[in-house]
Amino acid sequence: MKVLLASSEVHPFSKTGGLADMVGALGKALARAGHEARIVTPLYRGIYEKFPGLKPEDWQFDLPLGAKQIQGKLFSLDVEKNLTIYFVEQDEFYNRAGIYLENDVSYADNAERFIFFSKCAAHLARYLPWQPEIVHVHDWQAAIVPALILHQRQNEGWGNPPATCLTIHNLAYQGTFPREAFALTNLPQEFFTPERMEFFDHLNCLKTGIAFADAITTVSPRYAREIMTEEYGCALDGILRKRKNSFYGILNGVDYEEWNPASDKFLDKNFSATRLGGKTANKLALQEEFHLPLDKNIPLFGTISRLAEQKGVDIQLGALEEMLSTDIQFVLLGSGATAYERGYQELARRFPTKVAVRVGYDETLAHRIEAGCDFYLMPSRFEPSGLNQMYSLRYGTIPIVRATGGLDDSVIDMTEDADCANGIKFREYSARALAKAIRKALAIYQQAELMRRYRRNGMKSDFSWNRTVAEYLRVYKTAKSATR
Ligand code: ADP
Repeated sequence: MKVLLASSEVHPFSKTGGLADMVGALGKALARAGHEARIVTPLYRGIYEKFPGLKPEDWQFDLPLGAKQIQGKLFSLDVEKNLTIYFVEQDEFYNRAGIYLENDVSYADNAERFIFFSKCAAHLARYLPWQPEIVHVHDWQAAIVPALILHQRQNEGWGNPPATCLTIHNLAYQGTFPREAFALTNLPQEFFTPERMEFFDHLNCLKTGIAFADAITTVSPRYAREIMTEEYGCALDGILRKRKNSFYGILNGVDYEEWNPASDKFLDKNFSATRLGGKTANKLALQEEFHLPLDKNIPLFGTISRLAEQKGVDIQLGALEEMLSTDIQFVLLGSGATAYERGYQELARRFPTKVAVRVGYDETLAHRIEAGCDFYLMPSRFEPSGLNQMYSLRYGTIPIVRATGGLDDSVIDMTEDADCANGIKFREYSARALAKAIRKALAIYQQAELMRRYRRNGMKSDFSWNRTVAEYLRVYKTAKSATR
């Protein structure tokens, strides 16, 4: 099948979270399964310098954006057989210090930036000599593409356009803008209704995708069920329920070429389920890197995260406060809301031999934390898929997670299956419940054999993309037969 993916982030070119990992891995997995995958994404600052293989295409975008005409260029990179990445160059929009924001503040022209990007994606789908059968768009930044395609089909004579699929990576980010932003789409006014693109007098890009895409997916089965309820639905549960026959939950896969402790180039020592000894060397190296006392017997907990409300920072700070009277260590790598960064830094200041914090974004350190820790904390308020708990499982680091979304779908608690247990789950969103889960972890830590069993079970679990890609192909086929 020929699939064009459109995403505002793609690993290894740009990344703020799991979206980038997923799109990069899906492209690769489709290509390796013998399909033709191409991905379109913006050319952000620094990509051109870092990837000298980028070549200019003989292509010029000159597209209306409201009353203006905006020009852009196209670059491409052939990554491997069957996988090409297209980069949209538009320096005013994308050559900036951040992807979505700077200093905690979203760019004021994000509507312009990503509506333009969506128009470029639709334009490529229409005019590339290579004609995609499916256009698979990701999150709000590309979510209006299905509306653009439908409009061009109905009004501009685009015969036989591709089917469309939207993946929701996080329903909390919808791309809502004041109603005036609708003009940037250059779509006729009849598209701006509460059934389609309008959301309480605003333009809502994600809702647009939900209304228009032939198929909709999200990144875990449990999150799919959750967001059709009022509690988790971020006010879009109604339209999701309306589309429930075309809505699927597919748990994200893991790129085990990138995340494999047996071959991970960032580790001090590689290890595997049968050679677990190497994990201790990584633990000591991590303690050293974070200037914590070197002691292989102290249980070491870790977290790598965007510091946002979603990630359960408040209950994590509360639970740590309670648990730091016991003999544990905790390391954090994260960045995000300043108040949360300060909260962890303050904890590290008060407990310098127990807590260490690195504020920032650091791919190498993320791998070293996964390898060096005994337990991984992920107490999210909600979690569409979550990747770090799956990386933890593969690295023999036992995840402690709140039973929500993809966390619930990927981790097995003792109470669900004693033989296959690979992590600890708690339900109630509270510091007390998380502290209790940490106490359970400490009890497991005291029993070497039990600890080994959890680790081995985790390292055996398989979230590889072969399975995931087969599920997407099924959805693509359904979308093709449903094209409106
Ligand atoms: P989300 O997409 O909500 O941020 P996920 O768990 O799905 O959460 O994916 C997060 C991805 O981003 C993982 O690959 C994780 O390792 C990475 N990540 C998050 N914060 C950092 C950071 N500060 N440094 C390095 N990697 C990070």
